[in-house]
Formats: sequence, structure tokens, C-alpha cells
Amino acid sequence: MPPVSPTRILLESSSHCQLRCPSCPTATGAIDAAIGRGFLTARNFEHLLTHNPQLREVELSNYGEILLNPELSAILEIAHRRGVIVRADNGVNLNSAPEAALEAIVRFGLRSMTCSIDGASPETYATYRVRGSFDRVIANVKRINALKALHASPYPVLLWQFVVFGHNEHELGAARARAAELGMTFHPKLSWDSSFSPVRDRARVTAELGAATREEFRDAKGTTYMSKICHQLWDSPQVNWDGRMLGCCRNFWGDFGANAFDVGVAAAANSEKMRHARRMLVGKAPARDDIPCSSCEIYHARAESSDWVERPATSFRKRARLAMRTLGRTLGRTLLGVSGGRMGPRTVAP
Ligand code: SF4
Repeated sequence: MPPVSPTRILLESSSHCQLRCPSCPTATGAIDAAIGRGFLTARNFEHLLTHNPQLREVELSNYGEILLNPELSAILEIAHRRGVIVRADNGVNLNSAPEAALEAIVRFGLRSMTCSIDGASPETYATYRVRGSFDRVIANVKRINALKALHASPYPVLLWQFVVFGHNEHELGAARARAAELGMTFHPKLSWDSSFSPVRDRARVTAELGAATREEFRDAKGTTYMSKICHQLWDSPQVNWDGRMLGCCRNFWGDFGANAFDVGVAAAANSEKMRHARRMLVGKAPARDDIPCSSCEIYHARAESSDWVERPATSFRKRARLAMRTLGRTLGRTLLGVSGGRMGPRTVAP
């Protein structure tokens, strides 16, 4: 398989979260061993963009809450200055939002933000978003809208994500209407944990989402609900807040043996483990215990039904060419001793 050359990455800017959502691996501590707790620093972000000029887009949210990162404003300013698009589409809870951070989000043009709001009333919302406040989230959405008007900016584009449970399915209509009032796109989603507050009105949820649970979705469609995530190993790999290559946003079992802050995104995305994982995902290599995908239910489902990743064949040659070019540039810089022979010193404490 040819090497990859991603121009987009997912970069965890905070693995801390103040909420205690019952099914979330951040709240239960399941992420601790592989991801740890920390923040992306502005210094490491600048370092990363300096040494990876091919990067055009960075997604900043994943397992934690980006608004808890004390350097978020500086990170957004750096991306803006360098013309790199930044998004927060894996989700924010928007419960704690310092005014300076909200101002920076609008002023520096965070392109889009997905807000996790699983209800249309305070009581329903707090059933899953434990420690969260519906009123505070809505007030923060309104504040962002006011800042967008003040700066005459369409950004961030706001999306209301509603994970459907038994306790909130009756508020789907009200939430959709409220999202429209607030200028937000509405996106209902199936829960990944069907044992917590399972849907009751199956017909209604099926009409809305094509299935009442992810298990039913798989039976009906022949593929796992979030199976597209696996493409991140090719197109937009997940990098941890401390630079370690995690491959995809689902992975919290281990890293892929390289640090993007040290060796660069292209080299980390083409580590031996990443290459083996990609071959596993297309069904061309056996599972290996040291590859995080081997612990993932999505890989198990793929293996069970031979539902292997299919990559667009038409762009195969082009991707190979681009990847070789990027790797060549990296190697050239290394051989010529540019940036101190490597990418410069690692700037995060181990
Ligand atoms: S199998 Fe799981 S861990 Fe591996 S890329 Fe797909 S979603 Fe990520």
C-alpha cells in the first residue's frame, strides 16, 4: 500500500472534561491509560504547523472539552495567522465558556462547532450530561451568535448534535425547532451505548435515523454505524494532545508508535503500526495484538462480515504521488540538516 500524506488531522486539544456523562470513556476513566489527561499547548501547535506546512485543516475536539484548554485563544490565533482551518466538530459541551475564548472562537474564525445538546429542557438534558446546565449552554450559543453578528462573521457554523435516548426522544421535535431558532443545523445521532436509557418509541426513532440502535443499523445496512471513522487512518489521522499518533478518534487503547511532534505528521502517519493497521482494515493483513484496532468493536464487526474498508480507486495514483512528494520533502529537509536535522526539539514534557 502506498504511504499516506494527510493535509488534515484531528488533534486533541483537551482530554479533560468537567461533565460525567454515564457512557463516556472520558468520564469513566477508560481513556486514561492510552490518552492520559492534558492540553495541547500553543507552543506545540505552532511547532507542529511550522514543521508540517502541508497541513490545511485541524479538528481540535475529541474526548475532552476544548473550552477548558487555557491556551485555546492562542491556538486559534496561530491557526488564523497561518491560514489553517480549524474546527470543533467531534463535539463541545459548551458549559464553561470564558468570554475571551468565545471572542477568540469568532474573531479567529473557528470554521464550525458541533454542540452536544441531548435534550430541549434542563431536566432532560442533565439526565445524560451529568453536571451540565442546559440554560448555560443555550446562553453560550446565544453569546456566540451575538459575537458573530458583531464581527459580521458566518463562523463558526453551529451544529446541534442530539444523541437519542429513551429519556429524550420525545423532545426531538422541540430541539429541532430550538436549533432552527438559534441558527443551528440539527443532527440527531444514535447512542453508542444502547444499554443506557434505551429508546422506547422505536418506530419514531427508526423513522428519524433509519434504525433504533446501532446494532439494528448494522443489521439493516450491513455495515457499522460509525465505520467511516476508519478512513481517518488515511485521510485525517488523530494525534493526541502530546503528539502521539492515535490513528483515529475512536482509539483509546494505545498509540501507533510514533510522535507527530517529533517526527512530523507524514512520518507518524506512515509508522510501521499505521501501515499494518491500514492493511488490516482493507482485509490484507491479520490482526495483531499491538495494533489498537484489534481492541475495537468496529474492526471486529468488519472482520466478522468481511466488511473491509474500500478506498477510492480513482485517486489511488494521485494519493501515492502526493505521499511520495511529501515524504521526499521531509527526507530532503532531514538530509540537508534543515530544522536541526530533525523536526527540532520535542516541545512537550514526556
Ligand atoms: S477499527 Fe476502530 S480503532 Fe481501528 S481505525 Fe477503525 S474505528 Fe479506529
